[in-house]
Amino acid sequence: MKSKLILIILLTSQAVVAQPNGIKIKAYDIDVNLDLSTRQFLINVQLTIQKNDSSSTFHLLLSHYAAIKNVRSTNQEIIPFHFPEQDTLSIRLPEKLVKCKKFTLIFSYALPADSFLVDKGMFVMKRVDRWYPLQLGDIFNSTLRITVPDNQITLSNGTCKKKLLTNHMITFVWKTTHESDLALFVFNSDSMEYNSEVVAGTRINFYFIPGLKDEQKIISQVKSSFTFYSDFLGKYRNNNYMVVEIPADWFLGQSLHTLLLFTSKLSEYLPDPGTWVPHEVGHQWFGNTVIADEHAQGRWFVEESINEYLRAMYIEHIYGADSLSRILKDVYLANYNAIVKNGQDVSILDVGSVNNSPEEAQCIYAKGPIVLHQVRRCMGEANWNSFIKKVYHDFKNRLLTLDDFKKYISKYDHEGQCLRLFNTLLINKGIPENLYFD
Ligand SMILES: [Zn+2]
Repeated sequence: MKSKLILIILLTSQAVVAQPNGIKIKAYDIDVNLDLSTRQFLINVQLTIQKNDSSSTFHLLLSHYAAIKNVRSTNQEIIPFHFPEQDTLSIRLPEKLVKCKKFTLIFSYALPADSFLVDKGMFVMKRVDRWYPLQLGDIFNSTLRITVPDNQITLSNGTCKKKLLTNHMITFVWKTTHESDLALFVFNSDSMEYNSEVVAGTRINFYFIPGLKDEQKIISQVKSSFTFYSDFLGKYRNNNYMVVEIPADWFLGQSLHTLLLFTSKLSEYLPDPGTWVPHEVGHQWFGNTVIADEHAQGRWFVEESINEYLRAMYIEHIYGADSLSRILKDVYLANYNAIVKNGQDVSILDVGSVNNSPEEAQCIYAKGPIVLHQVRRCMGEANWNSFIKKVYHDFKNRLLTLDDFKKYISKYDHEGQCLRLFNTLLINKGIPENLYFD
């Protein structure tokens, strides 16, 4: 495998900042109607909120495009709100809700559809667009009902049922559980090419812009890596998965629960689908089923380095042990040495975001997998396999932090030398000479 630029594929395409609140959002019930005559999405969102403190105000992220009709309680009491800063909504609770441990709020608002329009007439609404009221770090169940003209298709997270209405409209009902991020895509059924395959008991749906180069390579990489992760870590938690080419150029690729998104820009940046497809597919297991805690130290290592090492294990599984050694030396180490400038390296623990600098990205995508390989060599093959499966099993549908990961290393490392080695490599800058690359 030739050395090439290491991938910077973002699980979250952009950081969204929210102040910590004393609330948790436990469930969403969302109704969306696309009104093409006024070119608006008319939205009602019901939030089930659990409250852990006695404060009377809290903040949610919501798009500044939202024209809010009202916010109300279930008994139709009007709840005051204002936007203290762009995309941040402040809610003031009435006295009787302040003391409630659990309550429901209903948000009614309209979003201008064209603000979310990309090429080919597709509407793209991602969490980063704050199209629904949210805070980071919540894990929730959701139902999303979206009604559109019957020549349109909608995609969201989870599983879908369709209801045909009598007036040339169609309602798609999307349901998901243990979700941390909701996206919604609406497009004309004629604008995309559709393929479908069943792999390891899951239906994989492919939506591509007609004429996609490497279509067959992408499909075969999705199928083989999906099979590897299903066999190694456990059956996929949904009965469907969607791979969607987004006709936009402001991001490369992104993995959301049940959705792999990519753009033509990603194919230009990384022409070989073998480099990005297995990484993105792996995120269905580590990233979307086991969810990195976005507020905890080591978040990028947990979200990206573990997953990138799983990709290396997939390469090893398909092409043999020499390929693992080659990817460690000729890709990760070679890229790290080529890209990280003298004196500019940071420690893994100090990475604020992989988007900050090439050095921080290399620390996570190149050094991170090398560090995990040292832990594997220290633990031994059988322990490593049990360890990684155990982490996946125990943190399924939950947040995982670096501290949790360390506690699990200890369970397979009774003398503590693997954890000591791991801690040293996390804290120190650079890549020391005496490491294992096979
Ligand atoms: Zn990633």
